Amino acid sequence: MFAVDDGRSVEAYNQTRDNSTDSSDSAEEEPSITDFTAGYDLPPLQRECTDLAHTIRYLKDGSLPDDDKLARRIVLEADQYALIDGTLYRLYTPRSKGHDRIMPVVRQLCVPRTLRPTLLRAYHDDLSHAGHTRLCQTLKLKYWYPEMYTHTLKYVNSCEVCQRTKIPTRSKKAPLKTLPVVGPFQRIHLDHIGPLKPTKEGYRHILVVADSLSAWPEAFPCFTTTAEEVANILYNEFITRYGVFDHLVTDQAKSFRIILFSNCVSC
Ligand SMILES: [Zn+2]
Repeated sequence: MFAVDDGRSVEAYNQTRDNSTDSSDSAEEEPSITDFTAGYDLPPLQRECTDLAHTIRYLKDGSLPDDDKLARRIVLEADQYALIDGTLYRLYTPRSKGHDRIMPVVRQLCVPRTLRPTLLRAYHDDLSHAGHTRLCQTLKLKYWYPEMYTHTLKYVNSCEVCQRTKIPTRSKKAPLKTLPVVGPFQRIHLDHIGPLKPTKEGYRHILVVADSLSAWPEAFPCFTTTAEEVANILYNEFITRYGVFDHLVTDQAKSFRIILFSNCVSC
């Protein structure tokens, strides 16, 4: 009762779908290649696949496996599949707006285990070693099998050619390190809080200075966050009482980096 056949052959359906996508998708998004299943008799390969066999049997004659949990899942998911000319397809609704307009439901060929390496070779190795995201986007417009996303990710990550030739686009994060322990007021931390609602004197920011060892904090009202004002406060309010520090830790804000402040600190 779940078998669906609208009278069109699979080949005619695929041809129609390919033509419709050619007009909306660039060749880069969905490369055109020869059908990788050419030369294979799909129905018997699907029936021999343990991932697909139960669903095929249920759609054909309603028979279910003895395992209750598995049987329940087969029944619940049965309306997501269709048998067309003896071949199992999964009915998939793309989420992208472009594809929704063209094909509300895509019939994904359920790929048996024996053909998955061939599929990935055809769509990855033979197609410029596409990255995982692009590979998945291309595959799911035509094909499906359980855990296809994870499987393709492992395949791409273990591809020797990709490992050798592709340069990582994301820079590695520097590892966090523990700062060495130093004496009191030898290393201080600086940061600004604000801008805040101005006081009647016109202060809009707070400069927070904290000792690294004791975490002793001091806070000073500021009119601005300029380097000149930071340097004045630091010298007049902090260094004159605690002495010159050896190390300064900041968030690399502009006022902490410019030359005037650097000169003051190095004095
Ligand atoms: Zn590769």
